[in-house]
Amino acid sequence: MILMRRSFHLLLLLGLMPLCSHRAVANATAWVNTEVNGVSYLPLENLRSFYKFTPMQRPARSKARVLVGNKDVKLEFGPALRELTIGGTRCMLTHPLMDDAKGDFLISRVDMVKLIDPILRPTYIQGRRAVKTVVIDPGHGGHDAGTQTSWVREADCTQLVATKLRDELLRRMPELKVQFTHEQNQYRSEQQRVDQISQAEAPIFISLHVNSGRSDVKGVETYTAAPAAPGEQPRPGNVHDTANTALAYALQTALVRGTEAEDGGCRRARYSLLNSVNCPAAMVEMGYATHEEEGKNLATAEYQTKLAQSLAEGICNYMRMADPATRLAYVEIPKVEEPPTPVKADIPAKKAAPARKAAPRHGKAKPQSKRSAPKKAAPAPRKKNPPAQRKNTRRRR
Ligand SMILES: [Zn+2]
Repeated sequence: MILMRRSFHLLLLLGLMPLCSHRAVANATAWVNTEVNGVSYLPLENLRSFYKFTPMQRPARSKARVLVGNKDVKLEFGPALRELTIGGTRCMLTHPLMDDAKGDFLISRVDMVKLIDPILRPTYIQGRRAVKTVVIDPGHGGHDAGTQTSWVREADCTQLVATKLRDELLRRMPELKVQFTHEQNQYRSEQQRVDQISQAEAPIFISLHVNSGRSDVKGVETYTAAPAAPGEQPRPGNVHDTANTALAYALQTALVRGTEAEDGGCRRARYSLLNSVNCPAAMVEMGYATHEEEGKNLATAEYQTKLAQSLAEGICNYMRMADPATRLAYVEIPKVEEPPTPVKADIPAKKAAPARKAAPRHGKAKPQSKRSAPKKAAPAPRKKNPPAQRKNTRRRR
């Protein structure tokens, strides 16, 4: 997996990705759209043949893993078919892959179109445009310190990383505009931040945070606005669903590579701020303040520099993905055609996995797959000198 990931990164970094063919010839894939519990699914075989991937593999000893891909990129679904790695970077599915009991799997159309395709073929990101401004939001500030442990205080860490990130971005791209949503010890309401971003020229928005959870949980996670559920009114943040995915993927990949932190994955959430921002946006949880090793790391200038350099690398990679002057794809195929007309589900309802329950709105609740919110986990082992922790069940984003 490491070799695979390296080759994927190398292509991304060196710009050697094959040029995309724009033949107007319709792709030969005959899409079979199946609706289960209101969610539209496509056979994984459709995805495989559309991208001209090699035949699907299912490791003999694991029913919970499925592989598809080509020489440049591998998609590995699992464990439990709820997530996949693309080129080695973890991404959480909106809906788990479903076993259709006929030797194939079903993948939700939203995961195909809004998670996998923007990463494999950034050329087709909706509303793709060159980035001119990076708006950095150092999470928390003023009276709002965010997460605090005896090792690190979130508002301090996010401000220090944000400053290093701004310096690194300007060093790499002096012409880039870099804005902060606030300077140190200031508090800005969500509406103030949204207004600022709406006035910026061709921006992307990166909100920096430090996570809290069980003492044994660590790693970096990158969140974007969850796509609208069937029948749900899309929010401003959903205009950029595909760009959000590409941005999160570029950031998460660079962060895991640059810091060697555990890969907590690209995740979806319904945070009010991400829903409201009308530009490509991501929220990065740079590590867990509640994990002793990571909490101590987060407080050091050396690790903060690593984080800032990795974030800058991710932003640069996204900027290449988003620039209309570059044509990037791993597969030489035309744009995904409009999805086929849904057909009646041919899978008995009892065999259908329930669609993942939508997370509550307005960002007050934990996101769908937040690792820091164990349901009925056993209490974490007590430390001899437990850090002072603030319960943070209603965190402001
Ligand atoms: Zn925070």
